[in-house]
Amino acid sequence: MNKQLRKAVIAGNWKMNKTPSETTALINEIKPLVQDADCDVVVCVPYVDLQAALEATKGSNIKVGAENCHWEKSGAYTGEISTGMLREMGVDYVIIGHSERRTYFGETDATVQKRVRAALDAGMTVILCVGETLEQREQGITNEVVGIQTKIALGGVSKEELSRIIIAYEPVWAIGTGRTATSEQANEVNHAIRMIIADLYDSAAADAFVVQYGGSMNAGNAAELLAQPDVDGGLIGGASLKAPDFAEIVKAASK
Ligand code: PEP
Repeated sequence: MNKQLRKAVIAGNWKMNKTPSETTALINEIKPLVQDADCDVVVCVPYVDLQAALEATKGSNIKVGAENCHWEKSGAYTGEISTGMLREMGVDYVIIGHSERRTYFGETDATVQKRVRAALDAGMTVILCVGETLEQREQGITNEVVGIQTKIALGGVSKEELSRIIIAYEPVWAIGTGRTATSEQANEVNHAIRMIIADLYDSAAADAFVVQYGGSMNAGNAAELLAQPDVDGGLIGGASLKAPDFAEIVKAASK
């Protein structure tokens, strides 16, 4: 498995933080710090901040993503946003299946699969989140849980479409808790995900496939996590809201 075949992706997940004017300010702070990045840099922001983010990132190397999307093109779905709406704005990336959506908003593997399909059909790139709870890890079923989440989400996804999917392995117990997976734990599950890709598609597809780690990644621990052979970048929550910290992670991924 050759890591050199893959370009790392560092994506910020801003969650429910920042107003449009705060978005402009933070992106203006991040921009000069990451302009020489040798990895892909993405910021995923709340829907109402997308326009500000698109304007602030214009002409830069920072790409913009949404934090969710609905699977229908339009209709009676109060409060939801379609992929067509995002695409017309110029949004290329979307996070799907984040554990906060699974935990607080009833997201299931079945709805994750529908959202992935809609995003791919709209030409978007998906950051697909999978990960086990602490209880599941303690039961020794991490790989089974992550395997099922991955296989269901990728149901109906062609080999050609895989280039527009990134998987973020995010152990639920490490998100926003300050408790990070060890680099060995992160690499082990990321590797297991790559093996699932090899199994579902083939080894060339697995070699080219980007698997991020997410869960309290920060400026201090990023270099060690990102040095692992199967860790191809990170999905960053808290630390993505601080420009110097986010830039430090981008720097670590650019080595
Ligand atoms: C996330 O929200 O995807 C995440 C990894 O959050 P944090 O970095 O804050 O743990």
